[in-house]
Amino acid sequence: MIAPDQIDALRDAVGDGGLQEHAPVDLDGLTAALTLSPADGEGLSRTLAVLRNCGLAVAVRGSGSYAGVGNPPIGLDAFLSTGRLVGIEEFDASEGVCHVQSGTPLRDVRDALAGSGWELPLDPPGRDSTVGGCIAAASVGPRALGLPCDQVLGLTVSLTSGERVRCGGRVVKNVTGYDLNKLYSGSFGSLGVIESAWLRLRAVPERSASCEIQRSDAAGACLAAIAAARCVSRRVAAIATNGADGWRVVVELAGDAPTVERDLAWLRDEYGASDTAQEAIEQIRDLQLEVPAPLGLRFRLGALPSRLESTLVELRAGGASLLAYPGLQLVYASFSLDASPDEADVEAIFHNVKSVAHSAGGGYVCEAAPTSVKAGRDMFGDLGASAAIVRALKQRFDPTGVLNPGRFAGRN
Ligand SMILES: Cc1cc2nc3c(=O)[nH]c(=O)nc-3n(C[C@H](O)[C@H](O)[C@H](O)COP(=O)(O)OP(=O)(O)OC[C@H]3O[C@@H](n4cnc5c(N)ncnc54)[C@H](O)[C@@H]3O)c2cc1C
Repeated sequence: MIAPDQIDALRDAVGDGGLQEHAPVDLDGLTAALTLSPADGEGLSRTLAVLRNCGLAVAVRGSGSYAGVGNPPIGLDAFLSTGRLVGIEEFDASEGVCHVQSGTPLRDVRDALAGSGWELPLDPPGRDSTVGGCIAAASVGPRALGLPCDQVLGLTVSLTSGERVRCGGRVVKNVTGYDLNKLYSGSFGSLGVIESAWLRLRAVPERSASCEIQRSDAAGACLAAIAAARCVSRRVAAIATNGADGWRVVVELAGDAPTVERDLAWLRDEYGASDTAQEAIEQIRDLQLEVPAPLGLRFRLGALPSRLESTLVELRAGGASLLAYPGLQLVYASFSLDASPDEADVEAIFHNVKSVAHSAGGGYVCEAAPTSVKAGRDMFGDLGASAAIVRALKQRFDPTGVLNPGRFAGRN
């Protein structure tokens, strides 16, 4: 329970209209009835300092579309929303970069760039994502050409010490020392709160085209998908289970017209690709977010292209419906659960995913699971030797556990 004097201190720190009391909201079994929404970086860093001094814990929230990610929190006194940290601070069309506040919905950035000849290379699967949420969750969707950290040139981050730190800047050459952008990206708001970001943009393609390839065998589907992923103009290369035993490869090519035409002709000749509507990409996006009803699990695994076929075959044998992006070396596996799942069945799925991920050359994250299943498990899998480093970083950046305590890997 937050004491009245602590509420007063938070109200002063967060600024006018930034403290909202509301009905209790659940987050993986814990509830909070307070949301803090600072309107600027100063307000954010002041609020974090007060939270730390008061020994309070928050769940950091962008649009909240992926709020359920991670382990159950070990503390929750309030939500810290970036809902008022919105706006495009700068857009430099000559350099192809923009500086955006972290709570800004990606769709607003896309709208602002429309007609400028530039587009945003961030593409999380969710349509409501904020810039900060996408970067913090290392979230990738069908049109992502790499991880969000590859598109981040610079970040301003507020720490629970009350410090505001800048890493990187508008152009790459500003980076000195450790590239801390890479540390904050994908840390799920467990080390600091992203205030704003300098983002690299990409030129709007002259031409884009989408096609698809059907296969009845995993080997043939993986060959086609990996070939498509290696096309110069590839923007999307996805492979997904299709019905009982089929496979569907969906491709989008984008770039200068001659290159797109050449790649398209090659995929037609070599793999029998047929033209398809752009909606096919949105179907892939929906598939990525799918969690089987009434209850289900969704995992994200890393898989080397050379291990893609065996990874898909093993997971499918384990009952998973699958989606993979060979170009990003990512596989998404969804498993349905009974309404009241048997613990042994759940454990068998986690065990299977862990061993498949190991043979695939990567790790796994359980992106979606019922709270009951999360108990006693780490949704980020086994950290192994890096557990101590992860713990030490949390201890250094957020020693009192203000930010999303217990949610990140290793229950940090
Ligand atoms: C139903 C649904 C399920 C989804 N499932 C997935 C999924 O499994 N995998 C996936 O990649 N995407 C998923 N998404 C897509 C989701 O939209 C993206 O991950 C998106 O990038 C999250 O952005 P957000 O603003 O909604 O962040 P939120 O959901 O609010 O937060 C996501 C994570 O980032 C942290 N965070 C948010 N803002 C900041 C900040 N400024 N500084 C530091 N940390 C911050 C939060 O604490 C949280 O850990 C899902 C979307 C929906 C609608």
